[in-house]
Amino acid sequence: MSRTNLLRRAGATLLLAASSLLVQAHAADEVKDVRLYALDCGVLHVKDMGMFSDTGEYNGKAGVVVDPCFVIRHPKGTLLWDTGLGDKLAQSKGGVDMEVGHMQVDAPLLDQLKAIGLTPSDITYLSFSHTHFDHTGNANEFPDATWILNKAELAWAESKPGPFVNLDTFSDYKTAKKQMIDGDYDVFGDGNVMILKTPGHTPGHQSLQLKLKKSGVVILSGDLFHQRANYTYRRVPPFNVSRADTLASIDRIDTILKNTKGRLVVQHDAGDFKGLPKIPKYLD
Ligand SMILES: [Zn+2]
Repeated sequence: MSRTNLLRRAGATLLLAASSLLVQAHAADEVKDVRLYALDCGVLHVKDMGMFSDTGEYNGKAGVVVDPCFVIRHPKGTLLWDTGLGDKLAQSKGGVDMEVGHMQVDAPLLDQLKAIGLTPSDITYLSFSHTHFDHTGNANEFPDATWILNKAELAWAESKPGPFVNLDTFSDYKTAKKQMIDGDYDVFGDGNVMILKTPGHTPGHQSLQLKLKKSGVVILSGDLFHQRANYTYRRVPPFNVSRADTLASIDRIDTILKNTKGRLVVQHDAGDFKGLPKIPKYLD
């Protein structure tokens, strides 16, 4: 073989090796259509559910508040919506007690991501319905993602907003790539994954609207509702920052659901969570 041919062959081998490395680095298989995965990111057993309605219906009654995270896969990337109580809690077998009850994480988020073929670096975008601690627990596991944050929410979270916000749980927002938003936001630019402004629970609270090929419109509530009955009877928690804004947001989501014949997923409602496919299955 001539020297030139030898060099050429060596070059081709190198190229092949490099391209197989590239394939390995991109671990997540591509998807054709939008998929919604519901992940179990903890549960709260609340002693007195009275904190979820200022009109007395839940007073003195105990209840279960589930705490899911959601992965939305889209041909253009992957969004993680809410990050749960935090995998650190999984180290305390049987959970931990807190003032209002008990909280527990049985399945670490990172293990569940693995079960659906994803690593933390596959998460392209990270967004929270709001910044209460039960939605920000694992946020710092995703420093490579672009964080989509509502301006009013972040300003409020940084201004000592009370016991339910813990900035340490999502301190990476300071260094992460950020997309700051004021209101509705089309995550992938095709209208299929829309963040909707639904303030009231917190100043920059938001819900997520998905348009799925088979299942149609699905709206993830965030904490606009804490139980299905909060939607049915328009119940407002006493610790919401604005009762009026909450009712206006409920009205908006209710109208969209009616217009689109959409499905509402009340994130903290155990029945709603149970009604979603269990990973590795998904809604599409
Ligand atoms: Zn919550």
